[in-house]
Amino acid sequence: MESLGRVIAEDVSAPWEMPLCNNSAMDGYAVHAADCQPGTVLKVTGYVPAGALPTHAVEPGCAIKIMTGAPTPPGCDSVVPVEETEESGSGVRIQAPVKVGQHVRIAGEDVKCGEVIMPRGTVVRPPEISMLASFGKATVPVYNRPRVAIVSTGDELVEVGEPLVVGKVINSNVWSIAAAVRQAGAIPVMIGVARDNADSHREKFTEALKADAVITSAGVSAGDRDLVRDILAESGVKQIFWHVDVKPGGPTAFGMKEAKPVFSLPGNPVSTMLTFEEFVLPALLRMQGHQRVFKRFVPALLMSDFRKKVGKINFVRVRLEYRDGKLLAYSSGDQNTGVLKTMLRADGFAMLPADRSSFSVGEEVEVHVLSDQTNMIDPE
Ligand code: AMP
Ligand code: MG
Repeated sequence: MESLGRVIAEDVSAPWEMPLCNNSAMDGYAVHAADCQPGTVLKVTGYVPAGALPTHAVEPGCAIKIMTGAPTPPGCDSVVPVEETEESGSGVRIQAPVKVGQHVRIAGEDVKCGEVIMPRGTVVRPPEISMLASFGKATVPVYNRPRVAIVSTGDELVEVGEPLVVGKVINSNVWSIAAAVRQAGAIPVMIGVARDNADSHREKFTEALKADAVITSAGVSAGDRDLVRDILAESGVKQIFWHVDVKPGGPTAFGMKEAKPVFSLPGNPVSTMLTFEEFVLPALLRMQGHQRVFKRFVPALLMSDFRKKVGKINFVRVRLEYRDGKLLAYSSGDQNTGVLKTMLRADGFAMLPADRSSFSVGEEVEVHVLSDQTNMIDPE
């Protein structure tokens, strides 16, 4: 159960073939197909219930009663479902034509012995659990869950539970990031708040850089109290990029300390969540061995007009509705970066490409769906 949602780290092979022996796929009678015409009466010479072994072969002109999953007796090639028979004294009357091989599962037809049933990189879902259990495997090697340190920055921040006064902001980002990290399968490590001075940043970053990955919130724009990038550089993090042509989320930065990724997300809660989805999530998935790490875009029809500046991709918070075989993308409301409510109402982000400025109702756009458990409205 603990492997559910994790990624298998080594190829898993079948220790035996499945099914282990030829067996019946139906409750019925094991027969020779050549003996059977509609109307034929066969002598019933035995019974193989589930869990039992046949004691003798099916002789010509005879049948052996058999239950689903029981090993088929030697000599038979087919099973006639009980629904296509009728008892007739000590025999059984075949009511329907019989095709050679019908309703017999052949040994190894599902899985051959030694076959790789789950290659490395497979995500464990209920079907994988089924296969593992079917081969008696109680454990399976999976990739580790990375520990992801989360640092908020800002003199304005107070914690949940502390009194809020005008001028202060509750540190909600640490919780939205922690929730997203956990949803991604990784382990959030709370480092706390770096205040807007170099020493506080140094102290928190030193602690954070002990984890497998680091996410910082705020302090990454061009303000004179925005210290994140400078102090990260001082802490040995090599900046790979700063600024992305994406709105919201422009000031996002990314760096590496050796192989350790460090994501610096903008502090505005909507930007923080959006940039996590777009930039951090794929990395956390890859660190856990996932093969498919980028969200799939789904095509949807825009249900409102949009205007924007050329030069940046705009992500628009949308609700999705499925109607008449088409996915419709409605704006979830005010798209201002400071508006959190419309993030809650969104099922996904519609991507408006950088090179265009005007978008009209009915146009097809690509939407990143936020999670499988969306609030998307089902067709009636
Ligand atoms: P900054 O980039 O530091 O100027 O922060 C940008 C905006 O994000 C400001 O309005 C902050 O109050 C807000 N903000 C920063 N950190 C957090 C946080 N941890 N939780 C919620 N809002 C935050
Ligand atoms: Mg700040």
